[in-house]
Amino acid sequence: MARHQVDYTQGLPVALSTVDKLLNWGRSNSLWPLTYGLACCAIEMMATGGSRFDFDRFGIIFRASPRQSDVMIIAGTLTKKHAEFTRRLYDQMPEPKWVVSMGSCANTGGMFNTYATVQGVDRIIPVDIYLPGCAPRPETLQYAMMVLQQKIRKQRAFTPETKKRLL
Ligand code: SF4
Repeated sequence: MARHQVDYTQGLPVALSTVDKLLNWGRSNSLWPLTYGLACCAIEMMATGGSRFDFDRFGIIFRASPRQSDVMIIAGTLTKKHAEFTRRLYDQMPEPKWVVSMGSCANTGGMFNTYATVQGVDRIIPVDIYLPGCAPRPETLQYAMMVLQQKIRKQRAFTPETKKRLL
């Protein structure tokens, strides 16, 4: 580069890392799960949203439409008959999106080792957090969401490829 030219790209990595932090801060503090329950685990999920455990203070607010949601909590047993609809709802959610598999049934099919049950929801959609138990208590779901928040805060919206394209 000639001496009189200014390299405008020098500050870009710093600027992008700050944008990353800002995006992740916003995303992790405004998780909107889809109102979607499949079986008994959903009762615990509903309790987590109630006044005693108060999800709202984390910025976690349940939404009635997949188009307004960025988290899917699979709370309960997923049957093969229902798997197609679960996948469709997941596809309707905008990016970026995350999935929490809540309880043994969602994780592995649980005690329902039958022809009618999906043996793990990760067979149809990608899962970010697995939550063990039958049924996991509201505190456990709350902790899982806090772990998800930590995971989101470490994500990078601007990958090295994106940065190369911008430069
Ligand atoms: S893990 Fe237990 S509580 Fe949850 S859906 Fe399965 S049987 Fe019900």
